[in-house]
Amino acid sequence: MYLVANIDSEICGKTKCTLCTQYCPEANTIQYDKIRNTAFVSVDRCKGCMQCVWVCDTLAKHHAIKMVMIDQLPKEQLRTALDMHYESSNLLKDSKINLPHAELVGK
Ligand code: SF4
Ligand code: SF4
Repeated sequence: MYLVANIDSEICGKTKCTLCTQYCPEANTIQYDKIRNTAFVSVDRCKGCMQCVWVCDTLAKHHAIKMVMIDQLPKEQLRTALDMHYESSNLLKDSKINLPHAELVGK
């Protein structure tokens, strides 16, 4: 068992700050979901370093992230890199930005 970051979507969703996504040292581990209106963590990539907790508590002052044992995570928070890949693809499909290569990502 190990600790992973758990984001309180209700608190996070009220802020739309996205700050933690810029500080996590692990690539593509925290992203901001504009549809669900919350940051979310890929739990299979999270290394439990708590950098995001410091950012959310100290810089953003929103206190939306707590570390929890992975077996204590709410089911809806058990999102993996694979889930995030599909979600990112969907976000790109909905995007109005012209990214021809992005169509390949969702296939
Ligand atoms: S820093 Fe906190 S409030 Fe801001 S996006 Fe991350 S979890 Fe949400
Ligand atoms: S605990 Fe560390 S690795 Fe995990 S999401 Fe937060 S900043 Fe990223």
